[in-house]
Order: sequence, then structure tokens, then C-alpha cells
Amino acid sequence: MNLHEYQSKAHFALYGIPIPQGKVASTPEEVFQIAQELGGKVVVKSQVLVGGRGKAGGIKLAKSPEEARDLAQEILGMDIKGHEVHKVLVDPAANIAKEIYLGITNDRGAAKPVLMASSEGGVEIEEVNRTNPEAIIREHIDPFMGLYSYQLVQVALGIDLPREHWRAFSKIAQGLYQCFIESDAVLAEINPLVITEEGELIALDGKMSIDDNALARQKKLAAQRDTDAEPEAETMAREAGISYVKLDGQIGCMVNGAGLAMTTMDMTQLYGKEFGIGPANFLDIGGGAKAEQVSAALRIILSDPNVKSVLLNIFGGITRGDEVARGVIEAYKEVQPDVPMIVRLQGTNAEEGRAILDSAQIPNVITAATLTEAAQKAVDAVKGAM
Ligand code: GDP
Ligand code: MN
Repeated sequence: MNLHEYQSKAHFALYGIPIPQGKVASTPEEVFQIAQELGGKVVVKSQVLVGGRGKAGGIKLAKSPEEARDLAQEILGMDIKGHEVHKVLVDPAANIAKEIYLGITNDRGAAKPVLMASSEGGVEIEEVNRTNPEAIIREHIDPFMGLYSYQLVQVALGIDLPREHWRAFSKIAQGLYQCFIESDAVLAEINPLVITEEGELIALDGKMSIDDNALARQKKLAAQRDTDAEPEAETMAREAGISYVKLDGQIGCMVNGAGLAMTTMDMTQLYGKEFGIGPANFLDIGGGAKAEQVSAALRIILSDPNVKSVLLNIFGGITRGDEVARGVIEAYKEVQPDVPMIVRLQGTNAEEGRAILDSAQIPNVITAATLTEAAQKAVDAVKGAM
């Protein structure tokens, strides 16, 4: 789960990291008010869960409250890489002397967190990573021992940080690591961490990503989720306890078990690739799914307009074929889709399930005995619709 910039920075501040004292607004009038309170120059920053807002025109400097209001008018409602802006952060503008990059993430290969820093911070950090990766200093952190001060000296030296900023920099890096660990984050990033003309270090931008599997114990952070900013299908899936990842293909896959879901995707790819046909999603309805879950899953799949056929592949263990069949019927009644569904049911109560589906006589339901046959039929159905 990703946090917005304003949420990330507020969280960083709890760990002693200096941030600009701004406020969030959702109307130009509020922006005017805030800018007036802050006095002087402000920066109006779109709050969307995507990087590169600056380059996309979603970060603007204003010299007066009037100008801030006009800029907010422009930015609110703007589309940034497919994300609509609902909120802006109004921060007092900083006089930037230097932009540093500072981030912590997990290095899976090393099985440790890694701190990354660069003197080339700001909007070009991805470019720096591509063209000049040595300009990013990396220090792995022993999860039992934490971040040693000698490591911070290495980093400060590595990014040519002037001596007078070492103390402030170390405090910020330690704070960020503490924040990263205590939040079960998979990413905590400050880009840019600026040195101001006045000689202070401030986190101008902030980004945090929390491990979804830790949200059960990160209740305060979980409560900050902005459901307006995520696709509706993802919200529906999360609430129904379904794992769902949207992809670009045309075959909606409804499967139980992650491994079988991957296999099903591979099979559609195997038979569809030469025709430009592939899976529209990864979806795992989980073990022991009941009818409501099946119908929720089908509604999620069918909410994607690219979907031209649905492949239902269930291997019944704890999950029962009759429950699945009832869910399918429920969902079909409700959604009344015109895309065909290819059904392969095996295992517990598969025969009952097939009998239920047969007697319901839903149009467009095609059964298949094997996964190969099912995948081929799903591809054929898409071809028929092209
Ligand atoms: P991002 O593009 O989504 O990463 O958004 P950032 O918050 O990092 O802003 C992008 C860039 O805008 C920064 O790298 C700065 O160069 C600039 N910027 C942001 N805030 C200020 C500010 O208060 N003053 C000045 N002069 N520039 C700013
Ligand atoms: Mn940034």
C-alpha cells in the first residue's frame, strides 16, 4: 500500500525528520487560505500515487495566494499518468541549494534493507540510476544491529556532503530507518532531501510503501488508505479477500490457488500469444471460497472492458464445485455479461457443480474437460470477438 506524499512526510516527522509545515486542500479556495496563512511563496503539489509529478506539471511554485489559487484550479482535476488529482499539498517554498536522494528499501538478494543515497537527487534519479549507477551509494543494513554511524560517514563521504551537514544528515537517515522498520515499509524515500540556502536539511518530498501483509498490525497506516486513488476493482478485490492483479490481455482468469492461477495464465499465453491474446488478470479466489466470493470475483473480472472471455479453472479441495457453480450463476444473473465463460471444474463436488451449471442453462457457458482444452476454447472465444 502506497501513502501519499503528505501522509509520508507527516509520518517521517514523527521520527524527527524536518519537513515543510504545509497543509492539504481539495479546493482552490482552501489553497488560497493556506497560502495566506503561510505567507510568502508556496509550492502547490498534486497528491497522486504516482512518481514524476514535477515533470508532468503537477508541482508548481506560486508567489502569492492568488497565484496559488489559480495554479490549484489548474492542478486539481488534472490527469497525471492516469491518476486524477483530488487533493493538493500547499507547502512553504524552499530555497533549494542542493537536492539529495535518500531512500531505504529491501534488497531481496542480500536479505537485508539497503540505504541508498545520491548527490544527484531530484527528478532525474531514475536517469542517474540508468546512466551513472555509481553515483548512487548503497549501504546494506544488518537487521539485528541497525544502521551503524560509520556507515553514515561512508554515505556522507560518498555523496560529498559538506562536513557541517553530517550531523543533521545522520539524524535524518537514522530516523528514516527507524520509520522504515517500525512501519513494516518496503520503501521509505526522500527525494529530494534538500540543503536550503539557509543551510538546513529538509525532506521536500516523501514516499512510503507499506508491506500489504503487515497491514493487519499497521492499523494507523492502513486507515490512511485513499480508496479514491485506487482502481475500483482493486478496492472490491481487497474487501472480498481476493488477490487480483490487472493485466493487459483479454482472457479473464478466475482460479483458486496462486500456483494454478499462474499456470492458467501461462496456458492462455501459450495458445494465445501468436494472436496477441493473453491473460487479462491474475486472480486467486483463495481456498474454500464461497458463492459470494465467486460472484464478487466475476464482477471484478467483468468490470475490465478488455475482457472478451472468462476462463474459470477450479480445482476443488476445500473449495467445493457446487459452491463455485452457485456463485457463477448468481454473478451471471446480476451482471448479465455477453462474454462467454469456459468452465473447467475438477475435484470436490465437481460433478454436482457441473450439474448445477447445466441445469441453469446460462447462455455462453462452455465446459471443458482439461486445462489445455479450456485455454484453447478461451483463446478461440476471444478470436471470435475480434
Ligand atoms: P515528484 O516530481 O513527484 O518527485 O515531486 P517532488 O516533490 O520531488 O518535486 C519535484 C521537484 O520540484 C523537486 O525536485 C524540486 O526541484 C521542485 N520543488 C519541489 N518543492 C519545491 C520548493 O519548495 N521550492 C523549489 N524551488 N522547488 C521545489
Ligand atoms: Mn520527488
